[in-house]
Amino acid sequence: MNYQQVINKVYQSVLQSNRLGEAADYIPELAQVDADQMGVYLHHNDHSSAYAGAWDQQFSIQSVVKVLTLTLAYKKMGSEIWHRVGVEPSGTPFNSLGHLEHEQGVPRNPFSNAGALVVCDVLMDLFEDPRAAMLQMIRESTGNPAIDVNKSIADSEKSEGYRNVALANLIKSLGNIKHDVNELLDLYFDCCSISLNCKDLALLFSFLANQGTCVQSGKALLTPSQSKRINAVMLTCGFYDEAGEFAYKIGLPGKSGVSGAIVAVMPNVFSLAIWSPGLNIKGNSQRGIEFLEGFTNETGQSIF
Ligand code: GLN
Repeated sequence: MNYQQVINKVYQSVLQSNRLGEAADYIPELAQVDADQMGVYLHHNDHSSAYAGAWDQQFSIQSVVKVLTLTLAYKKMGSEIWHRVGVEPSGTPFNSLGHLEHEQGVPRNPFSNAGALVVCDVLMDLFEDPRAAMLQMIRESTGNPAIDVNKSIADSEKSEGYRNVALANLIKSLGNIKHDVNELLDLYFDCCSISLNCKDLALLFSFLANQGTCVQSGKALLTPSQSKRINAVMLTCGFYDEAGEFAYKIGLPGKSGVSGAIVAVMPNVFSLAIWSPGLNIKGNSQRGIEFLEGFTNETGQSIF
């Protein structure tokens, strides 16, 4: 399979289709980003790679980080984590408060904002410095020691993060958040504001394409069984109320973020990162989804 050829072809066709979407505007720093950018990076488990466009341009990881916060908590805590957060698709937008009141503050899954806040609360129990633990895992897995939190994006999120403040307070009132809400929100916003590029993101997610072991560092982040389970939750919950559509069109486990990042994984073969800031109505990258649909159609690569 010549991945570079396929990426070049699909990249061009997505550019030409000219369906851009709009950059997220509820986080002021993200609203300033030029939506007309796109980068792609595929990292194969045999260490080869293929890429196109602005693959080396930095962006904030946003909700893609929810997979990594979960990984860190799951590795240390094991299945006990599932007492604090579920594994069912919510069918609701990423920032919904909807089910919480009726479900005793236990979020449906770890990839909604509610779920990620609870996982961050767990990390505050498990690690003395959860921020440092996150950055260490990310730097080791990418081999890039320069990766860090973008403080102006984190501050920007804090300045307008009303729904996240509401979520944290609601869950705390229902007893599923133990720590100070302000400290918890700081950790959550910092995690969402970690900045990297498509190459970093593809390398970072190689462990989910490789039975839990990072291809770049050779380090086991999860057991094969845990890796399977995280992939299953990405497939069913990785795209909020567009998860069904993503599974239907693309057929790969993946995760999106409001910066326009998407990472998708073909177990035992590759991890693939795409970034294009224009979002569709569900808050997922318009071009990212279009690219992945074209790519999986051309290559026939899907888990189904
Ligand atoms: N930081 C963003 C928020 O909390 C993450 C949401 C996302 O990427 N979908 O609103």
